[in-house]
Amino acid sequence: MANARPTVFALLVAAGRGSRAGGPVPKQYQALAGRAILAHTLTAFLDEPAIDAVAVVIHPDDEARYRAAVPDHEKLRPPVLGGGERQESVRNGLAGLGAAPTDLVLIHDAVRPFASRSLLRSVIEALGDEDAILPALPVTDTLKRADTTGHVEATVPRAGLYGAQTPQGFRFGPIMAAHARAAGSPASFTDDASIAEWAGVPVRIVPGEAANVKLTTADDIRMAEARLSTTETRTGTGYDVHALGPGSSVMLGGVAIPFDRSLVGHSDADVALHALTDAVLGAIADGDIGSHFPPSDPQWRGVSSDRFLAHAVARLAARGGAVVHLDLTLIAEAPKVGPHREAMRNRIAAICGIDPGRVAVKATTNEKMGFIGRGEGIAALATATVRLPAGEP
Ligand code: MG
Repeated sequence: MANARPTVFALLVAAGRGSRAGGPVPKQYQALAGRAILAHTLTAFLDEPAIDAVAVVIHPDDEARYRAAVPDHEKLRPPVLGGGERQESVRNGLAGLGAAPTDLVLIHDAVRPFASRSLLRSVIEALGDEDAILPALPVTDTLKRADTTGHVEATVPRAGLYGAQTPQGFRFGPIMAAHARAAGSPASFTDDASIAEWAGVPVRIVPGEAANVKLTTADDIRMAEARLSTTETRTGTGYDVHALGPGSSVMLGGVAIPFDRSLVGHSDADVALHALTDAVLGAIADGDIGSHFPPSDPQWRGVSSDRFLAHAVARLAARGGAVVHLDLTLIAEAPKVGPHREAMRNRIAAICGIDPGRVAVKATTNEKMGFIGRGEGIAALATATVRLPAGEP
């Protein structure tokens, strides 16, 4: 057990009412660049391989909002219903874990959507020798204490003062025990590190991130929106080849083209859609078609390849991204692609949810050279250009 990787569970606290941000819905469900803030926050936790499972503590009134906001994901457990106060919500969430033992738990505010995966990893790594880890940054503003009329009473020395962030990380046993004890205490706490402190559990600070802000007011949300509207462009390439065998049509670009042979492969062997799938996955550095749909898995036998491309585009969309342009080149002696070019562009565009004007389909022969020239197979090359929110890892 000593060298085994610890089991890590993440609890996102989303049960608050968020009245300071205004608006008709609690702030964790307000839209940020087209997705609920909670969905942005979840992404890093679901994508980080060091985290085994994630659950969100929600307000009982928010079940429908939660279902609408959050994607299906194998790591996401059913939501836990929170209590009247943050402390009670976290306690409910921890209690919900009792049946599924975990070594470590990260507790995170759902309205901090910019915590990076490297911050999550640094908290987890620091728990190797500690029971409680707090990401925090030294306070840089000069601090004033004021009276109720807004007049300064004193300047507060800021040496040794930190602003606390989340995710805060804990060994499960000590934080569970601290929460259980705190439940019987009249004291109230605004974060989990303060509950650990109160219970006598040493809390060590690791550097937080300036970008890891808590979205509290409507202004915070506007600033986050401006930040996410800054995008960056990435490209990916894909290549595929399949052999020709007996048959009466080939699937190319999602279009069945009558031909005196068929492409041979585990799925429908559509080299064009396979190359495009790899190009989209390449643009987001998210493995390849074989890692998402292993050829050894019988469930992909004969399957229509539009599933693969739609999956890659969904992976991109889950990160707040979109396809800008797809450029496909088919390399084949026959059949002729020209008569089917527009049908392929329309079909590929429909699969990806983009305009056909953003899909190029080109074709060339191999001048009768090599295996393609001898008519033994068909190859495809693809380039995908995608847009992602700037600063995505
Ligand atoms: Mg293939």
